[in-house]
Amino acid sequence: ARLAEILATRIDEYPDFPAPGVLFRDITPLLRDAGAFREIIAHWRAMVPAGVEYVVGTEARGFVLGAPLAYELGAGFIPVRKAGKLPGSPASLRYDLEYGSAEVQIPEGSLPAGARTLVVDDLLATGGTAAATIELTRSFGVELVGASFLIELEGLGGREKLPADVPVTTVWSIP
Ligand code: 5GP
Repeated sequence: ARLAEILATRIDEYPDFPAPGVLFRDITPLLRDAGAFREIIAHWRAMVPAGVEYVVGTEARGFVLGAPLAYELGAGFIPVRKAGKLPGSPASLRYDLEYGSAEVQIPEGSLPAGARTLVVDDLLATGGTAAATIELTRSFGVELVGASFLIELEGLGGREKLPADVPVTTVWSIP
């Protein structure tokens, strides 16, 4: 009941952002409420597969949620960044957007082969971001134990765009 109340009252909706026809979910009210933030992370950590060694979180809200989740799980945290932010020779993947393309990167040498790894982001919409993050993460030869999201917008079919062998968990699935 408390979880449902938090989700209903601490995530705001903004119509037509960032483009006409899009209903944007803003998690800022959840993040600024200390008790709600703690409860969400505590609930979430119990939903993910056992023995996670690394959490891979996507810029930018995947950092804010993935880092405390990793800390609670006793796992390391690995950032997935937009191109141009990481030093050295990061692993890179370019992927298609509705218009144009984007490139995501993970620091070189950051994930050991075989490590039990969980991909985390705040929201699963069309699945393009998560599919690219999963492919890039797997390029390190890790054992991908799952992908987990605070919010899933089921109507956009993102889950179907992810590899069928990756278990997906979401705290809040919106039909
Ligand atoms: P997708 O690639 O699945 O279409 O979009 C997911 C990515 O866009 C995630 O990284 C997520 O942070 C961001 N995103 C898309 N829609 C929303 C939204 O309504 N609210 C928030 N907070 N993020 C969104």
